[in-house]
Amino acid sequence: MSGLHIPLDTPDGSRTAHAENLLAPNPSAMTLDGTNTWVIGGREVVVVDPGPDDEAHLLRVRDHLGERRVTQILLTHGHVDHSGGARRFAGLTGAPVRALDPRHRLGDEGLADGDVVVVDGLEIHVYGTPGHSADSLCFWLPDDRAMLTGDTVLGRGTTIIAQDGGLADYLHSLDRLRAAAESLEARALLPGHGPVLPDPIGALDGYLAHRRERLDQIREARRRGARTPREIVRIVYADVDRSLWPAAEVSVRAQLDYLERL
Ligand SMILES: [Zn+2]
Repeated sequence: MSGLHIPLDTPDGSRTAHAENLLAPNPSAMTLDGTNTWVIGGREVVVVDPGPDDEAHLLRVRDHLGERRVTQILLTHGHVDHSGGARRFAGLTGAPVRALDPRHRLGDEGLADGDVVVVDGLEIHVYGTPGHSADSLCFWLPDDRAMLTGDTVLGRGTTIIAQDGGLADYLHSLDRLRAAAESLEARALLPGHGPVLPDPIGALDGYLAHRRERLDQIREARRRGARTPREIVRIVYADVDRSLWPAAEVSVRAQLDYLERL
């Protein structure tokens, strides 16, 4: 694909032909390098995930755009590291905020599976991909053959199932993204955190394999006597940084919930 640019050291400045990432300065174990704010379009743009309510970041995005008008702000989901700055950024640009969850909207328009957003002649196709959270969306850019994945697929490591998500939904969403990546011949995944993934099918297969592996590990931990989510985390997530264990515990609860319903 023409115009795919992936910097080696930071996701900041990653690009496809019509999408560009401006990294928010909120790095952590959960957010990797920070939140990726994606700017899509040409002379008019859509901004996806303004990021946390960080004035310096929001002003940097606005100043970077110069004369280019922001027509809409879209959210991949409502978690605060993606949506926290949306209201302020709407104030800076006059653009409405569209999201699946009505609580995160500003203006009359929602956003849901099947919607097509048009900016500067460019189409953005909306995919409902619940799982990481109930309100997670992905955005397909046909012109760049690139999929913005929010926190459904990250640029490094794996994502978690949050309290407002669910594993059955998540696995279904990964299957759907994989089928879309194959039939649409996707060339890149543009995640909500971390670097661009230039091998969409490889990345999605890796995610699906990882999920199956974790479920097997949880079954095995239970066979060995682990009962509570915390006991299971200590065994299954032994190789993971301890600061992530509380999030892992939420993920384990989601997996236990899934196994019980099989
Ligand atoms: Zn996030």
